[in-house]
Amino acid sequence: MRNTADVVVIGGGVHGCSIAYHLAQKGIKNVVLLEKNYLASGGTGRSAAGIRHQFGTEINIRLSATSIKMMENLAGELDYPHGIDLMQGGYMMLAYTESQLDQFKKNAEMQNSLMNAGTKVLSVDEIVRITPALNTEGLVGASFNKRDGHVDPFHVTQAYADAAKRLGVEINTRTEVVDIITEGNRVTGVVTGKGEVISTPAVVNAAGPHGAIIGKMVGIDIPLYPERHQILVTEPLEMFLPCMVISFTHGTYFKQTPHGSLLLGVGDPEHEVKDFNQESTWQFLEDVARKITYHMPALKNVRIVRQWAGLYDITPDSQAILGKTDIEGFYLDVGWSGHGLQLGPVVGKLMAQVIAGEKPDIDISVMSIDRFKTGALIPEPACV
Ligand SMILES: Cc1cc2nc3c(=O)[nH]c(=O)nc-3n(C[C@H](O)[C@H](O)[C@H](O)COP(=O)(O)OP(=O)(O)OC[C@H]3O[C@@H](n4cnc5c(N)ncnc54)[C@H](O)[C@@H]3O)c2cc1C
Repeated sequence: MRNTADVVVIGGGVHGCSIAYHLAQKGIKNVVLLEKNYLASGGTGRSAAGIRHQFGTEINIRLSATSIKMMENLAGELDYPHGIDLMQGGYMMLAYTESQLDQFKKNAEMQNSLMNAGTKVLSVDEIVRITPALNTEGLVGASFNKRDGHVDPFHVTQAYADAAKRLGVEINTRTEVVDIITEGNRVTGVVTGKGEVISTPAVVNAAGPHGAIIGKMVGIDIPLYPERHQILVTEPLEMFLPCMVISFTHGTYFKQTPHGSLLLGVGDPEHEVKDFNQESTWQFLEDVARKITYHMPALKNVRIVRQWAGLYDITPDSQAILGKTDIEGFYLDVGWSGHGLQLGPVVGKLMAQVIAGEKPDIDISVMSIDRFKTGALIPEPACV
């Protein structure tokens, strides 16, 4: 392992790998990425990997529209032979109340005026034309963008990692960061669990739900906690669901993967404790079965083949924390809650610009950790 680096990136999820690639691409090639497990072993590989323009805050709309454009050319740009399984069959957000539909209309207007996103608000008849299997009971409409959809999170991460390595980045898996060395107010090195020390003037915390533990290593309190979210996968079925579907009312989302299986998720934040438990539960199986057969009654006898759990990294406003900190050379890219996979491409690029001392293409200063001192939170109306 190298013992000096221009930048050390902690975390081999989509954000860490994208940052490492974008640093190397701009000529900062002595980058070392440290991942305590394997690449995409965190939230990234456990994600539903939905991508959508359909957010309700200016910053998320700018980030997501730019990231989706990047995803559309990603395999080519990174010379990744396997492709990233980008499926752009659309993303449908179901509205069960008039006030929810009004909010979706406002969101769609903002998406279309800021980024020409092409988001539409659908009537119930239009919903049925796209997804005939859906139970329309209680539905009043939906928001839909046909360029939304989903990707394979492992491929996206691996594509960045492979391209980063070709540019000279060193990626070390099974290597945990146990301490960060500071002198005065600045970062000078990183210590691994194997006892190696890497001297470096810059460290990026892209450790997802473990981000607060990394923050403590330099004496910074990052308001961030882990929250378990579970997913279930069915046997493969003939393709019948062209788009990803989400209901904020029921806390449910689902998609059909290229392999034909359905991937179903239900959040249960009220009953989750704030710890790192990633066990799957029976209770979740029952809850999903009930909720999904409500949305799509035809799924009643479909077999479940597996389930898994992952962690969201939640902040007080469920928005990420990005950029510099009071410790010189210590940067943050954490707190992505349930929507960070899709933003990995763009945020990796913006973070590399910030670390290189450049003005980022999109102003991400609203996402600074300072907002928790000033109270300038960013409530996002389109999040689970
Ligand atoms: C069930 C579920 C569904 C989701 N669905 C979606 C979705 O549909 N769309 C979407 O955009 N997002 C979704 N997300 C959120 C998304 O997965 C995350 O926001 C995103 O993957 C965060 O990426 P990351 O690289 O920041 O963090 P992670 O992928 O969590 O990576 C952090 C890495 O840091 C490593 N690490 C931690 N501590 C250390 C240490 N001390 N030393 C070395 N390495 C360390 C971890 O092992 C981990 O690999 C979902 C998440 C979950 C759990």
